[in-house]
Amino acid sequence: MKVLVVNCGSSSLKYQLVNMNDESVLAKGLVERIGLEGSILTHQPEGKDKVVINADISNHSIGIKLVIDALTDAKHGVISSMKEISAVGHRVVHGGEKFAGSVLITSAVMKALEDCIEMAPLHNPPNIMGINACTEIMPGVPQVGVFDTAFHQTMPKEAFLYAIPYEAYEKYGVRRYGFHGTSHKYVSERTAELMGKDLSELKIITCHLGNGASIAAVKNGKCIDTSMGFTPLEGLVMGTRSGGIDPAIVPYIMKKENMNADQVDNYLNKKSGVLGVSGVSSDFRDIEDAADKGNERAALALDMFAYRVLKFVGSYAAAMGGVDAIVFTAGLGENSISMREKIGNGFAYLGTGIDPVKNNVRGKAQEISVDGAKVKIFVIPTNEELVIARDTKKICSELA
Ligand code: AMP
Repeated sequence: MKVLVVNCGSSSLKYQLVNMNDESVLAKGLVERIGLEGSILTHQPEGKDKVVINADISNHSIGIKLVIDALTDAKHGVISSMKEISAVGHRVVHGGEKFAGSVLITSAVMKALEDCIEMAPLHNPPNIMGINACTEIMPGVPQVGVFDTAFHQTMPKEAFLYAIPYEAYEKYGVRRYGFHGTSHKYVSERTAELMGKDLSELKIITCHLGNGASIAAVKNGKCIDTSMGFTPLEGLVMGTRSGGIDPAIVPYIMKKENMNADQVDNYLNKKSGVLGVSGVSSDFRDIEDAADKGNERAALALDMFAYRVLKFVGSYAAAMGGVDAIVFTAGLGENSISMREKIGNGFAYLGTGIDPVKNNVRGKAQEISVDGAKVKIFVIPTNEELVIARDTKKICSELA
């Protein structure tokens, strides 16, 4: 069985074709600048040279069509016809409270996704466009939606509610949903595997540190709390997002800077985070370089990022009544040796720490804690596409 995994952004489309017999990736790629000038498809077939295709890609349907053409191309293709694709798995950002797991896409599901648009105006519309594009180009092929929010649906009410009038929850669904759920699920399961223990007996704190960053407390295999909230803006300091701030800052800045709601939303989502503090970049590599060269605000941005992670780790250890493992994943978590070290320097009170020799690793699953540590620390590369492919296979197999 071959599953096409699709992750649509507003102007981009990432894909992977996975052979589910051995979970190998047959090809992957990226369509960029959809609907813009200079749109481009980069296609990487396994074991062959990368291909770059420049074309006029005015919408997601044309993007999907080009992806299928690339996958079936005589030279750089990996399958002989579209018929070899048994199912499509889509990453969907917001499933609201309706979806606590992955689902087969039906017209009722599409309606529910449309109902969630208001809560994820940036993310859900392109996800819906991607599903519609696949329905158009691959009619009859089953499609599955895998939600970023689903893994967090096990949070108890005291963790997911905000202390604002209860009607906000009842009328508008204002509550903590959490995101990056597919990643938190994958790395917590891998942690249990690496520890040779059952997930149901472990307390794990998963730190997904990328351009968007979130932490989850995973107790006995279930998420009991996570740092992102109603939207992906809450919690940690991020590339361009503020993370948690005093909510009173919002009206204050609006008045001072004469901003409307959309402008302040943009200010907190696009102009804040380590970019806003450092004034250098949203990319941690640039900020680390600048800090190394003596830029004080870049160094401050890194310190603020690490401090916030450390505070969340402490609060989640408290929430779970202890912790067995702490995991670093995503772009920064998998690759930044110095950021892991900076955060890990604060773990001594937990009876653990990071071993500098073991920590000298990038993009590889490995334990990095000091010998004899009470709490194990891991680096685990995330693999959201694999979770999407596995869920898609499972749901489609049940159809047969
Ligand atoms: P993600 O959102 O998971 O793709 O993570 C992207 C972020 O990871 C980038 O913005 C970088 O700041 C960070 N990153 C990737 N590689 C490195 C590295 N070698 N050192 C430091 N940061 C990195």
